[in-house]
Amino acid sequence: MWGDTAFSFAQVGSNGMVLRFSADDFMVFPNKIAQWIIAHELAHVFQKATGRLPGGQSEGENEDDANRIAHGWGFDNTAVLMLKLLIQERQLSVEKAVRKIVKMGFV
Ligand SMILES: [Zn+2]
Repeated sequence: MWGDTAFSFAQVGSNGMVLRFSADDFMVFPNKIAQWIIAHELAHVFQKATGRLPGGQSEGENEDDANRIAHGWGFDNTAVLMLKLLIQERQLSVEKAVRKIVKMGFV
C-alpha cells in the first residue's frame, strides 16, 4: 500500500493516462480482489475519458460513482470490502487479511 490513503492498492494519475498498482499487494491478492481493484481504477479512467462529472463534487461521491460503474460491468467488491474491514478493524497485514478471506470463502 502507499501512504496517501489507508487502502491505496492502486492509483490513476495524469488525467486517466497512468495507472499504478502496488506490486507487493497484487502478489498476494486472489484474482477476484485484483479484478475488482483493476475494474475500479478503469472506472476512474472511464469517468475521465467520457468527460462526465465523476458522480458528484466530493471524493467520496467520485469513489461511489467508480464503484457503480465497476458493478455495472459485472465486478463484485464483497471480498475487497471484507479485506479493508480486516485491515482496518482487526489491524491485520494485507497478507494475513487475504489468508483469512480465502479461509472464510469470500474468494
Ligand atoms: Zn477510486
